Amino acid sequence: MYKSIYVHIPFCKMICTYCDFKREINSDENIEKYIDKIILEINEVKHILKTIYIGGGTPNILNDKLLDKFLNSLNKNIDKNTEVTIELNPELITKSQLLILKSNNVNRISLGVQSTNNNILKELGRLHTIEIVNDKIALLKKYNFENISCDFIYNLPNMKLSDVDDMLLFIKKNDIKHLSFYSLEIKEGSRLNKLKYKIDNEKEEEFLFYFQNKINLNRYEISNWSKNENYESKHNKAYWNMEGWKGIGYGACGFDDNTYTESKGKTSDWKYTYEKISIEELYKDILIMGLRQVRGINLNEEKNSQAFEFYKNSIPKNLIIIENNYLRVKEIDLLNEVLLNII
Ligand code: SF4
Repeated sequence: MYKSIYVHIPFCKMICTYCDFKREINSDENIEKYIDKIILEINEVKHILKTIYIGGGTPNILNDKLLDKFLNSLNKNIDKNTEVTIELNPELITKSQLLILKSNNVNRISLGVQSTNNNILKELGRLHTIEIVNDKIALLKKYNFENISCDFIYNLPNMKLSDVDDMLLFIKKNDIKHLSFYSLEIKEGSRLNKLKYKIDNEKEEEFLFYFQNKINLNRYEISNWSKNENYESKHNKAYWNMEGWKGIGYGACGFDDNTYTESKGKTSDWKYTYEKISIEELYKDILIMGLRQVRGINLNEEKNSQAFEFYKNSIPKNLIIIENNYLRVKEIDLLNEVLLNII
């Protein structure tokens, strides 16, 4: 039985150039109807959860009343150990919103910062500036939110190594405990793809190398860093360890009992489709997801050791290591090479 849920709020004020998530600009009336529908689905979840992740889109596009009603529906699934994360767009954070998050047990914030360079933010179509982000982080701390994660993208158009330095300074100054640092990808539905923007792969490596040598946080996954184990994302670890989660809402995916769930349709009407996978596919996914983590996968778990046994001969021995019964990639930057052999 799943112990995590992901709830998708697929609405935004503006569409960013790099984005191809399931999201759209819609009226307040339709957003309210959407929330009412997902509350009905949440009401069917009766047990206490280990993690809840509210992502988007822009979850804090909801007005205070609607946000409170929505979060309230999740309270029956939360106890003192539940990690409850919400993605926030910095420019939309208000004091009253933070009070609502607090009173509804939200204890982890994921901020979409993306860059510290205001010109780049503008080009991306983001509605915040770095000054706004700094102010909103101060406000979050004032309201006792200290488990804050920031998302950044590297290898963006016109980005320089000095932007990485600024980002590192921002992290230090604001004492950010968790960081997701993603390389720009040109996805099919994005505006950058329509503009035929081409990624410079050499620069991508240069940015990562530069960042990795200077960052003062621990890398625990291919794109994630944290101050210590306490600040690692429990929710994402449920994905990487294939622990089972339910996706709720248009654009949400799930996995449980060897079955993937996808939601198809539109924000006013969506249906879930289910695909049961074979044991071989499960083993492959266990390795693909688990090896993204720097500490690797726990071979004490039966399904993990079976997955390794199944694919053992496909993975070159010089790329992997087993330590304390954890299987991991020797150098995490070699992950793609290992995955290519598995696939
Ligand atoms: S990146 Fe986030 S804020 Fe921008 S359009 Fe996509 S979902 Fe919306």
